[in-house]
Amino acid sequence: MYACGPTVYNFIHIGNARPIVVFDMLYRLLKHTYENVVYARNITDIDDKINATASSLGETISDVSGRYTDAFHEDIASLHTLMPDIEPFATNHISEMHSMIQSLLDKDHAYVADGHVLFNVPSMKEYGSLSGRNREDLIAGARVDVAPYKRDPADFVLWKPSTGDQPGWDSPWGFGRPGWHLECSAMIETHLGETIDIHAGGQDLIFPHHENEIAQSVCSHGGKEFCRYWVHNGYITTRGEKMSKSVGNFFTLRELLDIAPGEVIRFALLSGHYRKPLDWSVDALNQSRASLDRIYQSLQIHCDIQFTDVDVPIGLIEALEDDLNTPMALAVLHGLVSELNNASNDNDKRRLKSELLAGGKFLGLLTTDPDGWFKWQPKAASGLDEQEIERLVNLRIEARKNKDFAESDRIRDELSNAGIQLEDGANGTTWHRASVIDMET
Ligand SMILES: [Zn+2]
Repeated sequence: MYACGPTVYNFIHIGNARPIVVFDMLYRLLKHTYENVVYARNITDIDDKINATASSLGETISDVSGRYTDAFHEDIASLHTLMPDIEPFATNHISEMHSMIQSLLDKDHAYVADGHVLFNVPSMKEYGSLSGRNREDLIAGARVDVAPYKRDPADFVLWKPSTGDQPGWDSPWGFGRPGWHLECSAMIETHLGETIDIHAGGQDLIFPHHENEIAQSVCSHGGKEFCRYWVHNGYITTRGEKMSKSVGNFFTLRELLDIAPGEVIRFALLSGHYRKPLDWSVDALNQSRASLDRIYQSLQIHCDIQFTDVDVPIGLIEALEDDLNTPMALAVLHGLVSELNNASNDNDKRRLKSELLAGGKFLGLLTTDPDGWFKWQPKAASGLDEQEIERLVNLRIEARKNKDFAESDRIRDELSNAGIQLEDGANGTTWHRASVIDMET
């Protein structure tokens, strides 16, 4: 399986995080079902957007790509995603890209013009079959100013010249750099072979990126099938509008991780079916928080119940096997919580708690202990720290022992005003922070 990875010139936004989490879920399911799964997700570390960022900051492109690759890894680790088996970097595959270009030139699918190498779209009869675009659509879709060196308006760049301080590599066609589409074709050929089972990516990559990947790979491999199954995730929207930088309605994952635990963001991303658009809002985030609170609360109540390693509940696997129905899989977790809360004997409780934890782990959730979960606080919070809370809780216990109920109530109010809720149970007093997420900035 191959998924198109990030272009590392900025922090990723929540729209970029959706494919990472959705395909992580697919990877987990495939590993559960098949013995040999190889998942590759690339890093695009050569791109004109990286060049622009580097020159505006007076840095090298590797400064920029290195910094944002690290940030990417850090951010997605907070969403509890597994690392892919292979993470190829585009700049480590320049010679493989050269070989692919040469093979396309040899087979008359590409031509050299004005320092560029271009793929000749009319040379491939089936071009456009993935996106369902016909010849008229392609011509109409081409920019008004078609570069004069193009034989056909739909032709796309495989190699382009670099001048001045633009980064580049020597090649048989002059000093230059690869086109973006070529990078994925070359990395897939190198690491996974000529035909792969699954190719994943966001819906916005279907045209032209994936269409062009198919053209390059199929034509350089003499017509051999490139990919057996394509999997595309839908857009993230806000108030029904596609999230995008130009509209200014987007959130970086980093901003969201400051106000909500990574598990809440992961839960929210899995709460809709991957092929449908997912509307992102504070309400949606709070719903996910409330859902996870309910699960953690049950685990907290049943903290004394032993659990064992058990298989992932079959209903959860079946939901995922049905076109990755993650909302249904999450509903299975909720069903287990209801059963656990209603169970009357310890045997049932043990079994249900074990299944709940196995299912949660499989979904990349329930990674925290319940006490820690309820103590999480947003980065910008100026509230009481844990030590101070513990001190006040102990003072209140002392006051209650001395039957000083006025003092005990005063402390409870003080904590409540600071957003700390107390719960007096059989095992003593526990506390948790109010968990409403506020996205107003
Ligand atoms: Zn790609």
